[in-house]
Amino acid sequence: MTTPVTLLGPSGRMGQALLAAAGQRDDVRVAAALDRGDAPGQGRELVPGVVVTALIDAALAAAPVYIDFTTSAATRAVAEVARGRRVAAVIGTTGLDATAQAAVDALAEVAPVVAAPNFSVGVNLVLGLVAEAARVLGTSWDAEIVELHHKHKRDAPSGTALGIARAIAAARGQELTAVGRFSRDGDVGARPAGEIGAVAVRGGDVVGEHTAYFFGSGERVEISHRATDRGIFAHGALRAATWVVGKRPGRYDMLDVLGLRGGRGDRS
Ligand code: NAD
Repeated sequence: MTTPVTLLGPSGRMGQALLAAAGQRDDVRVAAALDRGDAPGQGRELVPGVVVTALIDAALAAAPVYIDFTTSAATRAVAEVARGRRVAAVIGTTGLDATAQAAVDALAEVAPVVAAPNFSVGVNLVLGLVAEAARVLGTSWDAEIVELHHKHKRDAPSGTALGIARAIAAARGQELTAVGRFSRDGDVGARPAGEIGAVAVRGGDVVGEHTAYFFGSGERVEISHRATDRGIFAHGALRAATWVVGKRPGRYDMLDVLGLRGGRGDRS
């Protein structure tokens, strides 16, 4: 079966990767494309029969699911319209502000939404591995995350680094809001036990690299993931789009799509 999808931001880095990945698959078809009014390619035929538009309602009318790798403002605007239409969503945009988060939550009340800071299989495996390491090692081992991304990335730390930090905090029974430390400058004093640090490095064309460090006394553990091709996120998102159509309203993530959610199973 082929799932028609509405693609957001086809002119962007992820939009291009999604377009290329969709062209390699027969389980999805780009049925509509939405981009900002002044985006390159606006008004042109993207694939046969699909002209890039800036009209949200028209774009969402073309498919039962949309894929969003854009900006916080676009995520909010599209989710608000999608709620009225009860369109399913796959959301990869990171660094969402509170109003965008609220719009995604409101959409998830009436439609199924897969939202994940990282759609790669490898990173979702890493989330499980860091949780296991944190459970075993506890707060006496210092947890720090270092992430590298290309120079155009807007948000920091990355959504994936925050996801790793949340997984470590949850496994140790902590709240990330209480123990997360995302900048150090000047005389910051000794490192408190139980803190979870994250450092963002930006430069060049790095697709995305994350390492979780656990520093013990006389030894350390490192768990790393390196993405070298945006195609991994694109194929993960397209797989999520085929999976999410027909599911019950609610928020899902990549662990649900991959069937890795222990005990919760498939809520279809
Ligand atoms: P980009 O700047 O290359 O592309 C953004 C796209 O959004 C552009 O095409 C832009 O025209 C479009 N856009 C902006 N405003 C819009 C609007 N109002 N309506 C429709 N389209 C609009 O960015 P990118 O590198 O492709 O990343 C996009 C987002 O995806 C970022 O938040 C990034 O962190 C995230 N990302 C997530 C994953 C993941 O696996 N979840 C992987 C890579 C990137």
